[in-house]
Amino acid sequence: MAAKIARVGVMGGTFDPIHFGHLVTAEGARCEFGLDQVLFLPSGQPPHKDLKEVTPANHRYMMTVLATLTNPYFEVSRIDIDRRGISYTIDSLKCLRQEYGAGTELFFITGADAVFEIMTWKDSKKLLEIAHFIAATRPGFSLEDLPAETRAWIAKHRERFYVLQIPAMAISSTNIRQRVRDGHSIRYLVPQQVDYYIRRHWLYRRERTPI
Ligand code: NAP
Repeated sequence: MAAKIARVGVMGGTFDPIHFGHLVTAEGARCEFGLDQVLFLPSGQPPHKDLKEVTPANHRYMMTVLATLTNPYFEVSRIDIDRRGISYTIDSLKCLRQEYGAGTELFFITGADAVFEIMTWKDSKKLLEIAHFIAATRPGFSLEDLPAETRAWIAKHRERFYVLQIPAMAISSTNIRQRVRDGHSIRYLVPQQVDYYIRRHWLYRRERTPI
């Protein structure tokens, strides 16, 4: 019989592209929260984003697979990519709850900016029944900086929220895309295989010119 997985981290993100900040966050959460597995969930059609500005899902999925290959605790799921329409987190978590069963605790991990908007997400009350939420942020983040309404909401559900401070969160996908556009190196910001993949598929560039 397969070993039961009791605590699963679910790394939600657009991953356009995935970078070392995401990988350090996932590994940090795994160690800090005793997770048996971290499942990366690239969004198919990210909520609040114009699809025209997002790299096609299959490229983001492939980069996520390449970046996570060497960590035996990491897996990548296509559920958000293969589901049609907007990738609402509630739909993903319901699906994972069914897959893993009631005995498994789910920890949804993503950037603090996104986590602390959960009150505006689809079916936010149900989300908190299904999973815990880990907000990844740079050191120095303080809940005091959030709007009063958000703080009050978080305080009401404080047993479901955790903050994880990650120095490598200074790396950002937006900055990486800009660096590629400007012809600058992204070495040591993303795994080497992701760097190769970006070059090979001419991602984030205005025209097909060699770097
Ligand atoms: P985003 O607005 O692109 O990102 C917000 C911040 O979080 C950025 O600084 C981003 O940095 C960082 N970030 C994103 N994913 C991260 C991760 N897994 N670990 C650490 N930092 C991360 O956010 P998004 O990617 O669109 O959304 C994040 C997650 O929230 C996704 O799974 C999305 O589906 C979910 N979400 C759900 C709803 C809903 O259900 N209604 C609404 C909004 C978001 P980088 O740009 O460097 O990644």
